[in-house]
Amino acid sequence: MPASVQTARISLQRACPACGHSRCADPVECLLSLTSCLWGDCDDCAGSGFAGDLDPLAIFCRVCSGSGRVEISARPVVTAVAA
Ligand SMILES: [Zn+2]
Ligand SMILES: [Zn+2]
Repeated sequence: MPASVQTARISLQRACPACGHSRCADPVECLLSLTSCLWGDCDDCAGSGFAGDLDPLAIFCRVCSGSGRVEISARPVVTAVAA
């Protein structure tokens, strides 16, 4: 039984961001790891999503764009050190 049609269709799917496989073995497990490990509350707005006193010209937090959540893996490594 040829499986070429099925293979071609699978290749069009996006790979799972957690495990890297286009055919995710455990989507629930991967989704949990994505939501629990890579995302966290925004430090600048404490998860509220609003700029508040941080930036009077902006309504929403410029770091998280109002979502209140930031992708931890995408955060810049360099942090400002207050001496
Ligand atoms: Zn996966
Ligand atoms: Zn924020």
